[in-house]
Amino acid sequence: TFISFEGPDGAGKTSALRAITAQIMDGLGDQLVITREPGGNPISESIRSIILDRANTAMDYRTEALLYAAARRQHLAQTILPALEADQLVLCDRYVDSSIAYQGAGRQIGEDAVAEMNQFATDGLLPDLTIYFDVPAEVGLRRIQAHRQADQVDRLDVEKTAFHDRVRAAYLRLQAADPDRIKRIDATQEPAKVVEQALTLIKQTAPR
Ligand code: C5P
Ligand code: MG
Repeated sequence: TFISFEGPDGAGKTSALRAITAQIMDGLGDQLVITREPGGNPISESIRSIILDRANTAMDYRTEALLYAAARRQHLAQTILPALEADQLVLCDRYVDSSIAYQGAGRQIGEDAVAEMNQFATDGLLPDLTIYFDVPAEVGLRRIQAHRQADQVDRLDVEKTAFHDRVRAAYLRLQAADPDRIKRIDATQEPAKVVEQALTLIKQTAPR
């Protein structure tokens, strides 16, 4: 069973994933694969470091989208597919919906174009379940600011909010278009409640 975790910045997806892992670890043991993209293997990690290198300010948005798709392909081939083959439960922090939301809508290179490119990269493999942690852009951005060191604080500027508004709007469109796969959780709720709702969805999809 393949489950992805999605959401805008500051939705609490990563900490929820950590809490979920702790709660389902017992009894699943080696049947559980927790992974995140881009990364998870040496090739994808190399690609990740190119994407995240702050010195690469000249990176074209389509180049970025292609690199994410390349890293995704390798991660799928090397990590996800073998795990699914072995009937393991794969929990993946971000997958194609991130690219459609961030590159397609956020960077405005086109949601359909990015979806198509990822269709090729994944050969159409989608998760059995995608848990979408939904927060308004402003709430997410404020949470991130609160967690940063004082000297790292980014300004909550208009452009940044607009970018994240586009990301969230795209996620909501994806959810509305595929409600059987993508389940939305209101991530403004208290963390324990978010985790509980995510666990319920996981148990429905991957009963053990
Ligand atoms: O998953 P995490 O919250 O750590 O994401 C880190 C950042 O990577 C996001 O804030 C987003 O800006 C970026 N990202 C992206 N496109 C993707 C995946 C992540 O721009 N496809
Ligand atoms: Mg995170």
